[in-house]
Amino acid sequence: MAMDKRSLYDGLNEFEADLQKLSENLVEMKGSLQELVEKNTTLELENQRLRERIHELSRQNSAHSEKDKQELSQSRMNLEKIYEEGFHVCYDLYGSRREHDEPCAFCLEVIYRDSGK
Ligand SMILES: [Zn+2]
Repeated sequence: MAMDKRSLYDGLNEFEADLQKLSENLVEMKGSLQELVEKNTTLELENQRLRERIHELSRQNSAHSEKDKQELSQSRMNLEKIYEEGFHVCYDLYGSRREHDEPCAFCLEVIYRDSGK
């Protein structure tokens, strides 16, 4: 009987250690996921910015057209979507998570600047 209790106790100790290890892994994986999501968002924004830049450059060679306006509002909508998903799109913090979805005046400026152009 004493032996059984001891092996039960040992078993629980082992189980506890395993759980601790799993919990550590979980924390690590969550961190990695967060990093990946932020990196992905950063790349998305960088891509977006480059597209805007190309668009700007090509616009310098042509008069404003209806198509230009459509593309501009499309890129604004993309930024808005990223912002609403909870990420900064402003230059200092872009791609990082907005803590508790706090509103950011700089983000809003980026999204809505140049509107009506
Ligand atoms: Zn921001």
